[in-house]
Amino acid sequence: MEDSVQIRCTRCKNVFRDRAKRLQNGYSRQCPSCEIVLFFDEDSHDANIKRAMRSARRARKELRESEGVSTRQTTAASRRYGGRSASSSRGTEDDDGDD
Ligand SMILES: [Zn+2]
Repeated sequence: MEDSVQIRCTRCKNVFRDRAKRLQNGYSRQCPSCEIVLFFDEDSHDANIKRAMRSARRARKELRESEGVSTRQTTAASRRYGGRSASSSRGTEDDDGDD
């Protein structure tokens, strides 16, 4: 599952990634390349910032939904098996379901 989004620096156009969970209104971080501080706001005038915010929001939604599913599965499995035999089910990978 994708939990990071691409951000394009306003100044040097370098593309880097950051966690979708961090990219919310009021968040700021330095560009790793030119070290300018980028401020993240959904109402930003910067198209790069706005795009990153949109991507982050979508990624957070997907994460939330996938976490909800896996939490239910883990809870059910640990209740039934005591959480000890999880390794035996590793053969059935379901990571290929991404679109
Ligand atoms: Zn930069």
